[in-house]
Amino acid sequence: MKTNREIDCREALKLIAAYVDQQSTKSDSKSLEKHLESCRHCFDRVEFEKMLKNRLKGLKLDTSSSEMSTEVRRFLEDL
Ligand SMILES: [Zn+2]
Repeated sequence: MKTNREIDCREALKLIAAYVDQQSTKSDSKSLEKHLESCRHCFDRVEFEKMLKNRLKGLKLDTSSSEMSTEVRRFLEDL
């Protein structure tokens, strides 16, 4: 089955970064959103990433620097 497949938290985590950046495909977004409906942990993670993204934007940091976003990703993965 390809449509509406269930994903687990590990898969969800892989999709969240792209999802927050609005880079994920429609089917990935659907799968993730479905997972978020039943998983508070991943839902909080998405909220956190969105907040962090907004905060970085608010600080007017140079987010075009790839080094910067690598640092941020690493930071998030350590949480
Ligand atoms: Zn989950």
